[in-house]
Amino acid sequence: MRTPAKGEGLYNVVVIGAGTAGLVTGAGTAGLGGRVALIERNKMGGDCLNFGCVPSKALISSARLLAKMRRAEDWGLRKTEPQFDFNEIFARMRARRAQIAPNDSAKRFESLGVDVFRGQARFESAYSVKVDNQILRAKNFVIATGTRALVPKIEGIETVQYFTNETIFDELKSKPESLIVLGGGPIGCELGQTFNRFGVRTTIVQRNVRLLPREDVDVSEFLENRLASEGISVVTNADARSVRRDGDQVKMSILRKAEAPVEISASTLLMCPGRQPNIENLGLDAAGIRTNRRGVIVNEYLQTSQPHIYAAGDIAGPFLFTHMADAHARVVVRNILMPFQFLRQKIDYSVVPWCTYVDPEIATVGLNEGAAKNKNIEYDLIQQELKNVDRAVVESEDTGFVKVLVAKGTDKILGATLVCKGAGDLMHEFVLAMKYGIGLGKISATTHAYPTFAELARKLGDKYNKTRLTPTARVIFSWLYRRKLA
Ligand SMILES: Cc1cc2nc3c(=O)[nH]c(=O)nc-3n(C[C@H](O)[C@H](O)[C@H](O)COP(=O)(O)OP(=O)(O)OC[C@H]3O[C@@H](n4cnc5c(N)ncnc54)[C@H](O)[C@@H]3O)c2cc1C
Repeated sequence: MRTPAKGEGLYNVVVIGAGTAGLVTGAGTAGLGGRVALIERNKMGGDCLNFGCVPSKALISSARLLAKMRRAEDWGLRKTEPQFDFNEIFARMRARRAQIAPNDSAKRFESLGVDVFRGQARFESAYSVKVDNQILRAKNFVIATGTRALVPKIEGIETVQYFTNETIFDELKSKPESLIVLGGGPIGCELGQTFNRFGVRTTIVQRNVRLLPREDVDVSEFLENRLASEGISVVTNADARSVRRDGDQVKMSILRKAEAPVEISASTLLMCPGRQPNIENLGLDAAGIRTNRRGVIVNEYLQTSQPHIYAAGDIAGPFLFTHMADAHARVVVRNILMPFQFLRQKIDYSVVPWCTYVDPEIATVGLNEGAAKNKNIEYDLIQQELKNVDRAVVESEDTGFVKVLVAKGTDKILGATLVCKGAGDLMHEFVLAMKYGIGLGKISATTHAYPTFAELARKLGDKYNKTRLTPTARVIFSWLYRRKLA
């Protein structure tokens, strides 16, 4: 049978959005032999490559080195103030990003057998999508349109210039004198710490009573103290009421509960107060697809209200991470191929890791104390301070702690939170253990190389084992020892 020309005939799958979710769906479908079209209206690679993970982590890497150089004395070196050019740091970030970009390019995807279309996609019906005056028809569709920065309706917002994650990495032309970051979630904290380390006087304004409200209170407090110690002004429990331009400054009026409004000012404003779904102008009504304020409503198989139309990635939530967009896409590729619902896979949210790349990193998997309490789940808490890990001490990186929750009276890991250098990588021992039911006892029985940060996990296992040493067992062991000496 003749393969129809690009855009003609019937596709197995039409994917809208070439961010992580769309790219993985496109490559996966083509790799299994499916005929697939991928539509992107902006940059191939979506948020993660262009406006998110990649540029932010590249800047964080420079900022971390700067902070380390300023701490040179901690390693017995002379105190130093590093010399740097702000624009060169940004140029490096763009060069690093450009190095990764070919992986997500239209050329590469065409070479994998994906038909790539550029333009705004819009459903004409539940079985057709229009892009650039061309109608694409398919058996299945995947909505992978992601989210964008939420810009809150603050009085005067239309009168001031502000940056979002979509503009800050490419449109900021020189080092700002000072910065207000609106939002104390992961993106606001990461970028706030980074800019401050670049010598930009930074204020983080957070509506919630604490930074990173999804984490435990002690974790938020640790971060707030850390950022404050680096010179960042953190204003929590604060509502941004209005903004105005005054010469070269942006003035923001903020209201803290039970206090009179105060005005803060900076040369530059960065908006990180949350995300909003890209659901506009998609023709979702024409296709009969239901949405809510978070995005497209899906069932556990990631099907929308039209079972042949799936949604994946940020637009389907609830975890807005690249690795979850990837995980969604893998489930969607499989489910589209399966002929019957009973063969389809449900998305599994039981072991979802995430990391906030502040310094030191904050990584979490599964339940933390707050979540366990909310769900009335009984747990035992095993905690380890970094200052008792030899590698951390010799590296002068002994600030931080790790908390592991185990099901009460057992070694079954319910969750772990790591606050330390390299937490995002170290977390994966716990991720694997949780996924495959390996308890803390078994981690304790696993030899870890000395001296490594990974010893943290073994030490937590040892601590768990100590909790199992009941007074009766201790009496028996003591008796056995005495017997040997007799
Ligand atoms: C500053 C920042 C840092 C981040 N850091 C991390 C991190 O370190 N780790 C992590 O896991 N996650 C991180 N994230 C989150 C991560 O970027 C997202 O979870 C991920 O990009 C979601 O992928 P996606 O495919 O769902 O959507 P997106 O990457 O947003 O892709 C959606 C694509 O759809 C396109 N599109 C939308 N509507 C249409 C339409 N009608 N027609 C055609 N195309 C359309 C858009 O242009 C976009 O390219 C970060 C996000 C930000 C903003």
